This record gives sequence, structure tokens and C-alpha cells, in this order.
Amino acid sequence: MPKYVYRFDEGRKDQRDLLGGKGANLAEMTRIGLPVPPGFTISSEACRAYMRDGHLPPGLRVEVTTALRQVEDALGRRLGAPRDPLLVSVRSGAKVSMPGMMDTVLNVGLTDASVQGLADMSGDERFAWDSYRRLVQMFGATVLGIDPRPFGEALDARKAAVGAVSDVDLTADDLRGLVDEYLQIVRTTCGREFPQDPREQLDLAIDAVFGSWDTERARLYRRRERIPDRLGTAVNVMAMVFGNLGADSGTGVAFTRDPSSGHAGAYGDYLPNAQGEDVVAGIRNTLTLDDLHARDPASYDELLAAMRRLETHYRDLCDIEFTIERGRLWLLQTRVGKRTAGAAFRVAVQLVDEHLITLDEALARVTGEQLGRLLFPQFDRTAGAPLLTRGLGASPGAAVGEIVLDNAQAIERTQAGAQAILVRRETNADDLVGMISAAGILTARGGKTSHAAVVARGMGRCAVVGAEALDVDEVRVDDAVLRPGDVIALDGTTGEVFRGEVPVVDSPVLRYVAEGLDAGLRSAADDGVRELVHAVHRLLTHADSVRRLRVRANADTADDARRARARGAEGIGLCRTEHQFLGERRRHVEQVVLAGGEDERQAALAALLPLQRADFTDLLEAMDGLPTTIRLLDPPLHEFLPNLTELSVRVALAEQRGQVDEHDVRLLAAVRRTHEQNPMLGLRGVRLGLTVPGLFAVQVRAIAEATVELRRAGRDPRPEIMVPLVGSAREMQLVRVETERVLAEVAAGSGERLRMPIGCMIELPRAALTAQRIATQADFFSFGTNDLTQTTWGFSRDDVEGSFFPAYLDNGVLTVSPFETLDADGVGALVRAGVESGRSARPDLHCGVCGEHGGDPESIHFFHQVGLDDVSCSPFRIPVARLEAGRAAVTVGDDATV
Ligand code: ADP
Ligand code: MG
Ligand code: MG
Repeated sequence: MPKYVYRFDEGRKDQRDLLGGKGANLAEMTRIGLPVPPGFTISSEACRAYMRDGHLPPGLRVEVTTALRQVEDALGRRLGAPRDPLLVSVRSGAKVSMPGMMDTVLNVGLTDASVQGLADMSGDERFAWDSYRRLVQMFGATVLGIDPRPFGEALDARKAAVGAVSDVDLTADDLRGLVDEYLQIVRTTCGREFPQDPREQLDLAIDAVFGSWDTERARLYRRRERIPDRLGTAVNVMAMVFGNLGADSGTGVAFTRDPSSGHAGAYGDYLPNAQGEDVVAGIRNTLTLDDLHARDPASYDELLAAMRRLETHYRDLCDIEFTIERGRLWLLQTRVGKRTAGAAFRVAVQLVDEHLITLDEALARVTGEQLGRLLFPQFDRTAGAPLLTRGLGASPGAAVGEIVLDNAQAIERTQAGAQAILVRRETNADDLVGMISAAGILTARGGKTSHAAVVARGMGRCAVVGAEALDVDEVRVDDAVLRPGDVIALDGTTGEVFRGEVPVVDSPVLRYVAEGLDAGLRSAADDGVRELVHAVHRLLTHADSVRRLRVRANADTADDARRARARGAEGIGLCRTEHQFLGERRRHVEQVVLAGGEDERQAALAALLPLQRADFTDLLEAMDGLPTTIRLLDPPLHEFLPNLTELSVRVALAEQRGQVDEHDVRLLAAVRRTHEQNPMLGLRGVRLGLTVPGLFAVQVRAIAEATVELRRAGRDPRPEIMVPLVGSAREMQLVRVETERVLAEVAAGSGERLRMPIGCMIELPRAALTAQRIATQADFFSFGTNDLTQTTWGFSRDDVEGSFFPAYLDNGVLTVSPFETLDADGVGALVRAGVESGRSARPDLHCGVCGEHGGDPESIHFFHQVGLDDVSCSPFRIPVARLEAGRAAVTVGDDATV
């Protein structure tokens, strides 16, 4: 028979999958001898069985009986007995914490009979009735599903009747009367008595907690936070201890050290004469732990000793819930404390300085995602802008602009030079143009996987979604009415929305990664921020020293290259050359396409040569001494020609006026000829190079001549030539022969020896599958995971992300966009196969990746595992990639990835 119930002394902290976070940590604290009230955990396995079968496993009730009897025997009390009753709490607790989403019921076991026993046992009549009142209310609301409002109204009415200001002013008799009223509310709304059998209360509460996993709000929360529905929750049943037994009792929460800096010290809140939920509910002002020290030094010392034990044990900052019952300390919960991005770095380095953890461990405890958050521009917090409302931070960044309500306004304001914030109830595919022109997006509905969120993240546009207080029909938040044109500011990280202009500043961490340690430290506002900059520096430097993956940048221009180099790029993994065919140079491209014969085409290409040579000279000079991978032209030629519709109209109008322009007419014919139904799968990449004679040759010649020029000036240029969209070894061979011919010509003409790596992108499934043969023709591979994702899934990115991805994320076909995080099972399998079979032909084959995934934390861990040599990403993501490559090297094997 499977086992579903575990006593606290049977489990341990690494069993979070089975026992949930709360249960696993309660077990751990019990195991190391900290004072935890006895209890047991019903595993999340039982919840999964409940979801699968529609009912709890049959043996469960029996297992609960055994565990409950053991608790009863240990304490010498019986659940809900008329004399000296045992009461328990029934608490939810999933693997990942879902604050406020699921239910907890305290004081289970109180009945008309046992309430008197509790009064006798405690010698406190008022306390007993107060506990019973809490139970009927909590049980009524969460287990019996009664609207909680009538309970609150009855309480208020009773307070008013006796002139009580707060709950604590109510006497035992007041509370007894209130319990009668509460029981009557249960009777009338449920048509049944409040259960007077303690065991029935317990069983119903357990069912309810399992049921709370599947409530609408819990499901919504999980979808927003990308927590899988299948995890299920565990249920913890635990003997009650009472913080509401008078002035020598109380309850509180504490951190084992300063949660923002990691500095040693005790931080927390304490509320005398209260039960757990009172602290969170904020019904009275809390005291500090120093106050507790003054009131009850013995309990305080015990608390500090327990915190130290926990910290030595977990070797990390922990947060805890505790209760003091008549001078006796109990620990009710602990976990490795949640922290902000900045705190994560500071705490980790602080623990290293105290020699509690190693630098490797510290590196494993911070994430690239956190570093990314520290790099975004920030609102100047000192500006004191008024907070308008709050939503979910769906796509990070800081955006300030005028409110616009539709695409037309967004485009109009942006073209007029203003910044626009698109404000919508929610967005759909029609809003795409507006989202593209806006500086930020704000919606009233939707979570982190809504259309607005997904698309904004894809575009790197700042977005706040699900700002529920926002009424879009007349754009108002509570009483504040806003108009199109009014300025608001969005913080896409915190979800805050401010009214009016808020100044934006570079974060000190960004100054550090872009300009060095001194600049970062100089721009820090206080010691705390300086400590943060130092912490990032320590961990990033350590990551550099342990990582095996090299980090390169995707950069097209010398400016981008310099920026990337300053951030630590060790080369360029992808320089796209398409910009070299735009602007003024379009007319040369037009001539290449329109060329009547070989001579005319060569002349047009020759005109491009000096322009491209100058581009490459700049780029290679900026990357002096570092490998620079230059990709030959990839997009279809018609992308450089005028738009078909516009040109047709121009020609038609000219004809009407009787002023036919020969050039335009020929151009129109060419545009029609080169028009493609599906350009992504059409004449582009290597296909173009093999179809338009001389096109790749002129690019290669420009690279070669730039190299010669720089060498003569005493520089060390290191170009690498990359061929896009290769699908067969023969394609690669043809390009290679031509490339080597051009290099040999330039070498002969200049007397320089010109040998440079010639490799290809692997971005078609066929290329990955025939990598062994392609590798005989290629000196290196670079996985183009954007196109490889498109061609593996058959997704056209521009079409699918805005249209059905939100639905696919909702229904679980996708848990994350495969364009954001590499689809390890599908696309990743092709990458792995490509590396393995390529290296079987050529063991020293250099393999890299140059899709956007090169800057994505989870994907980087995958690339490390399959043995790539480098990742290449946008200059902005370089520090994130360095950090994650380091983490991948120290965390292989654990699931401490992201
Ligand atoms: P949450 O996850 O919302 O914090 P918990 O299950 O931790 O919910 O419980 C809610 C409150 O009740 C907490 O303050 C907790 O410390 C308190 N509590 C839970 N179990 C007991 C118990 N056995 N005795 C006393 N207080 C308890
Ligand atoms: Mg809790
Ligand atoms: Mg591509």
C-alpha cells in the first residue's frame, strides 16, 4: 500500500516534492531538535491521486488515524476531548510557496463540549471562546464555503453594542454570545449544524485544503507564476500552540539576518497576546524583536539560538514563524527566505565573507534573471512620484509617456516625437502595431502569460498587466480620472504605475558592467548600493573564472562591438551584414537585381565593395585580437527593394500623368518576379549566395581586404566567415570553394597569408541531421536557434507569438515561449545531435549558438551540458550570460539552475 502520511520526525528538507516546502522544513526542524509542535504531513502524492481519481485514496483515513494517535499519545491529550483537548491546525503547503492562495484552518477540534475543557485547561475563559469564534469563522468560510461577510458584520455589531474599540476589548461573555450567532449563521446558510465531532472537523478540513489547490484564484495564480498545476499541495496537521494566552504569550515572524543586506542581526515583528493570522492581518501594531527582548529575555535568547541553529544548518538566510505560549518558544515554519534581486547578491557575498559558504555556492544562489533585473534602467526613487496603482510586472523596464488608447493614437504620438503608453483592458493581435510604437503597455486584465505580457516580453517592451483597479472605459483609478495625453510611468519590474513624469536613471550595476567598478561605485547612492556593486563584481568575476562556455556578442556595428567588449564579450558570434545593404546602398542592390548582364552586375557589386570594406575595418578594429564571426547576407533580396504595393501605386500614378519612369517600371517587374509567398522559406541565405553570382564573393573580398589593411597597420583582426541557412554539405562546399578562391586572390595580390575559419549556421533540421557530412566542409558550427525553432516547430514567429501563443500557454501546450527559452526536448535534441555528429567527423569542431537563447539563463545551462564552446547574445545580455555560464559550471547535476 502506498504511504501518504509522514510524521514530522520521518521527513527531511530535500523532500519538498513529496511533503511540500512547509512540511519538508517542519520535518527538518524536528529532526535537528528544534521546538516544533508535533504533527504530520499528508503528502502532495495524495493530492495528485485526488486530482487523478476524483477522491482521496481509501487508505488515507486509516493512516491519518495512526499518525493522529501518535500525536495524541505524545502530548497525553485527545483531539477535541471535553477535558484537556488537543487542537490542531490544518495547513496547506505546496512545493513552491503560493502566498495567500490556499487555506489554513486553526483550532480544529473545538466544539461546544471541548471549549469548556480548553477554558479549564488554560484557566482563561475568554481565550477559549475567542478560539472557538475563530474556528467557526475560519472553518465556515474555508471548509463550508460560507460568505465571510456576515461573520464580520456580527462581530462589528457586537463590538458596537458593548462599546468595544478592538477585538481584545470583548469579554468572555461577549464572545460566547458571538459564537452562538456564528453557529446560527452556519445553520441558516448551510442547513446543517457546525460539525461537533472533532474527527469530522479534521477530515473536512483536510479535504478543503486539498480542494483549495484547484480553486479559480489558485489556478490563476499558478498560470501567472508559471507553476505547473500537476504539482498538488501537501497538508500539514500540527498540534496547536497558543500565542493568545495573555501578556506572556505572543506570535511573530523573523529573519535570521537582515533580509536586504545579509548582515548579521535579528529582524522581525512580534505581537503579544495574538494568534498567527493577526500579525499578517495588521489588526494591531507589531513590536520589534528588541521589544520582545525587553519583555521576555529568556524566550528572546531561545529564539536567537534557534535562528542561529537554522542558519548554520541551512547555511542561508531563513525566515521563520514562531509563537510563544506562556514563556515557551515554538517554531511553526521556516524556509530559505525570499529576497529581492539586490539582496540575493549581497546576502550571498556576505555569507562568503563569514565563511559560511564557498564562492561556488554563492554563485549558485544568484541567478541571471536577478542580475538582469539589476541592469534595467530605474526610476529615480528620490523623485517621490505619486503611485497611481499596481499591476503585475510582466516585462521589465521603466517607461514614461503619454496615455494613448488605440493604435492610431500610439502611432500619431510616436511620430510626433512623444513617448506613448498604450493603455488597454487587454490586448490582442490587432494591437500589435500600437504595441510596437508605444514605449510601454499597461493593461487592466490578464496575467504574466496574457497576450500583452508575452508579446511585450518578446519585443523587450516594458509592460504592466492586470492592473485591476484601472477602469479603462474612462481611464480612471479610484477617483483619479486620466485622459489621453496625461503622462504616466510604468515600472515593468515591480508592476508600479506612477502619475506624471518620473526621471529614469541608469542603475549603478549597469554602470558597473558597462564602465567598470569605479564608475559603478561612483554612481551608487549609499553604502548599501556600493556593497551591491561590489557583490555583483565578486560573483561575476568568479563566474568568469569557473565557466567553460565563452561568451560572445551579437553585434553588427563597431559601436555595438565596443559596447559588448566593455561588458566582457570575448568575441562576436554573429555580425549580420544586412544593414550594409540598406539606406543609400539600396540603389546598388537595385542595380544588382536589375543588371542586364554579367558586366552590369559586377559593376553594381563593385560599387558595394569599398563601402563594405570600411564597415569591416571599423568592426574588426573594435574587436582587435578577438574572434569576429561575420555572417554573409541572409535575408531575401526583395527585402532591399521597394514595397510592392507602394511601387505599383507610384508606377500607376505616373502612367496616369503620362510620365512613365523606365527605372521604376523595370524595378516593379523585378519586385513582382522576386515576390515570395513565404520568404522565410524562400530564396535567402546560402541559396541567395549560390543564385546571385558574385554576391558572397564581394562580401568575402571586403572582409579579406579589411583584414589586410588592419594587419598592415599593426592590428590583429580575427575574422571568421559564416554561411547562413545551409541545409546540405554540397551547398557549403560550393560556397567554401568560392570563398577560398577569393581569399587566395586577395592573398596573392597583397602578399599576406589569409587563412580564416569558414563555417556555417545550423538552423535547419536537415543541417542538424546531416551535420556529420556538413562538418567535413565547415570549420565551425553556430546554431541559429531562432530559425531552428521556427523550422522545427513550423512556427512563423511573427505570426504565432501574438495570435495563439497566449492560448497555448494557458492550456499548457507550452509552459514558456520556445523563442524565449530553448525547447530542450525538440529543438535541443537537434542541437545535441548536431554537435555530436559534427564532432564525430571533426573532433575539434568549434560549436556555438547565436540565437536569442544565447542570453537566456535556462538555455545557457542546456548549451553547457551539450558541450558547446560558446554562446553569443545581445551586448546587453552579456553579463547575464557570463553569470549563468559560471553557474552552469558549478551546478551541473543539481536542479539549482533557475
Ligand atoms: P500561511 O502559509 O498563509 O502563512 P500557515 O499555514 O503558515 O499559513 O498558517 C497561518 C498562521 O497560523 C501562521 O501565522 C502560522 O504560524 C499560524 N499557525 C499555523 N499552525 C499553527 C499551530 N499549530 N499553532 C499556532 N499557530 C499556528
Ligand atoms: Mg506561514
Ligand atoms: Mg537565421
